[in-house]
Amino acid sequence: EVRVRIAPSPTGNFHVGTARNALYNYIFARKHGGKMIVRIDDTDMRRNTEESERGIFEGLKWIGIDWDEGPDVGGPYGPYRQSERLEIYNKYIDQLIQEGKAYYCFCTEDELERERKEQLARKEAPKYSGKCRNLSPEEIKEKLEAGMKATVRFKVPDKIIKFHDAVRGELAWDGRLIGDFVIRKSDGLPTYNFASAIDDWQMKISHVMRSQEHIPNTYNQVLIFEAFGAEVPEFVHFPLLLNEDRTKISKRDGALFIGEYRDMGYLREAVTNFIALLGWNPGDGDEFMTIDDMIEKFSLDRINNSNVVFDFKKLEWFNGNYIRRISVDDLAERIKPFLEQTDYFKGTEEHLEILKKVAAVEQERLKRLDEAKDAFKPFYVEPQEYDIDLLKESVKKVDLAQMAELISASIEELNTIENWDKDYLEERMRLLCEKLGTKPKILFMLLRIAETGSKVSPPLFDTFEIIGKESTLRRLERCKK
Ligand code: ATP
Ligand code: MG
Repeated sequence: EVRVRIAPSPTGNFHVGTARNALYNYIFARKHGGKMIVRIDDTDMRRNTEESERGIFEGLKWIGIDWDEGPDVGGPYGPYRQSERLEIYNKYIDQLIQEGKAYYCFCTEDELERERKEQLARKEAPKYSGKCRNLSPEEIKEKLEAGMKATVRFKVPDKIIKFHDAVRGELAWDGRLIGDFVIRKSDGLPTYNFASAIDDWQMKISHVMRSQEHIPNTYNQVLIFEAFGAEVPEFVHFPLLLNEDRTKISKRDGALFIGEYRDMGYLREAVTNFIALLGWNPGDGDEFMTIDDMIEKFSLDRINNSNVVFDFKKLEWFNGNYIRRISVDDLAERIKPFLEQTDYFKGTEEHLEILKKVAAVEQERLKRLDEAKDAFKPFYVEPQEYDIDLLKESVKKVDLAQMAELISASIEELNTIENWDKDYLEERMRLLCEKLGTKPKILFMLLRIAETGSKVSPPLFDTFEIIGKESTLRRLERCKK
């Protein structure tokens, strides 16, 4: 049975890298009718925060992932928070000690530090000397009874450690290069590698799928599996996501919380689709996929080996595409929370009506939903002042006096129009241009600024139609001055 897990630590933002891995695990589980497990790796007591744990669940839900087992939904192999599994780790640590596969180490930080420096001075790679390997049972008992601080170390065998990685094939490392590593710290907590291997074993994880920075850890974890005679899972190491400067996207460097993409106005579908392509592609040239499409198309042999730079421009492009793919009603619904952050939007029937109309004409232009806050404003609020410089630079070859005349002529013309329909308005205004001997480009830019205060807006006469005659005339009068 396919059983996969994500094991984030609640020590910072659930970011796009973690989210991408969660998505691949989820897709893989669903594709194979398997189980998706969420485990919280919270043994780093100093860095854990509750907020960060909440963010994991919130982030997962937002990108469209659900799970079969986890701290919130339970399951047959719980508890699913490592901090609640200390007894389990201790049981297995005791077993390893009994079997002579692990031992107490009483070396102090200072001693270890001195040893490391000496090794470096001799140009050797630092590695624990194994000093406490051969303490007699009496010596150990004595030290423990005297209350000396102890760690527990795993006896690394002298052998080549091998595992299979679905992306990179057979990987191997010489055990003699790895010192006996700590599996329980002096504070009684297991180390990451130990807890992770025990849980993956105990939770019957079939595929351990995470990013490539974990490859060195995998050798240690494989040794733990082998020490218990447990079946070693299949490993899959995904490429890393990088910032534009090619550094790893990382919690420690303040990576954005995935929910911040929602707050910036990215659609969940666009984000999910975009992150799915960071390290994998379906190979059929079709980049637009729902999660169901991904489940259908996903395969491990199309996972890339090289790290990927997170390209905001491409995400924005995707987002614009998704904005155009959804219905106007849906779009309006999604824009609403952004308008609610403004002081001009009141949420009345009338305001909601305007929202729908503007959504229909802005759909072509928007790249992010949060742009609506500025872009929709002229449909709710009349500009009170006009930027003379903007007028001068946008409406070239016409001086301010001529602009005033053009606006006057337009007001006169518009006043006579009863049928306030965009096509009819356009027809009449084009005729007016001919009459005045002005290029439509010039007059229309002028009118656009007069109407909205800005030189960018949806098509001019759509804008006129939505804003209505009365307000349009008021705006033009104000601009004329
Ligand atoms: P820290 O800086 O504390 O190590 P992190 O950002 O590396 O935090 P982790 O909690 O260590 O996050 O990792 C959670 C999951 O996200 C793991 O599966 C890890 O492989 C993956 N991951 C972390 N950073 C990236 C990244 N930049 N690209 C791809 N995957 C990542
Ligand atoms: Mg990490």
